[in-house]
Amino acid sequence: MKGSQAVKTFLSLPKAVGRACGPLLLAVRSGLFHPCCRVCGSDLVVPGETVLCGNCRAKIVFAVENRCRVCGKFLPQGIATCGSCRLAPPPFARHRSFAAYEGTLRQAIILYKFAAVEPLKHVLAGLYLETVRRELPGAYDAVVPVPADLRRRRNGFQPLCAVAKVLARRLGVPFRPGLLRKKKSTPPQVGLTQAQRLANLDGAFALGAGARAAGLRVLLVDDVTTTGTTVRKCAAVLKRGGARVTALTLGQTRL
Ligand SMILES: [Zn+2]
Ligand SMILES: [Zn+2]
Repeated sequence: MKGSQAVKTFLSLPKAVGRACGPLLLAVRSGLFHPCCRVCGSDLVVPGETVLCGNCRAKIVFAVENRCRVCGKFLPQGIATCGSCRLAPPPFARHRSFAAYEGTLRQAIILYKFAAVEPLKHVLAGLYLETVRRELPGAYDAVVPVPADLRRRRNGFQPLCAVAKVLARRLGVPFRPGLLRKKKSTPPQVGLTQAQRLANLDGAFALGAGARAAGLRVLLVDDVTTTGTTVRKCAAVLKRGGARVTALTLGQTRL
């Protein structure tokens, strides 16, 4: 069975079966038995390739498109700042994502998050790093991931936290996940309107217990952004605590 087929099989299994066979499935989907590309299934033959083949990796490229200089929203050529940012500046100084949330990048993020293809964190950390170097250079005091939802943590695996930790190490910036916490579990944002998204996350985030954000230059990290609601809510908490926030994501939905 190829790796991609193994992942599909795993995702289609009922949860109870998945839990019962957890360790074996984990081994299969981690590719211990089949060193093949997790996206296209082709054999990995080049030294150094561990989860993605060269062809698939080459399809994940930084978006050199016109975007809002503040929030990073994709805009037609010639427009520097989007209407929302002109009307009301967001609680972060800038936000940038690596690229649009589509194609091979989207597949890689889904495999990492939902099929726990753990070695992908090094590939994804490299994409965050490239985005920082190209678009968000500067000094930071803390890398802070958006806190995971309490009810959606899977067997202790927190994909965003794990990749943000690798990014922090590669940037040489302290990793401070404790600066933010999620106070309550909330339903997924998918399918909600902008107003519903805002209401859904109302009061969901807070500074961590005993955390002090005053004066810190924070790099706030999330995986995917659609309307930017989650990032704005987290940035607002940090800003109220006195931090200057720069936001970084991997994939951004085209609106
Ligand atoms: Zn491939
Ligand atoms: Zn904007």
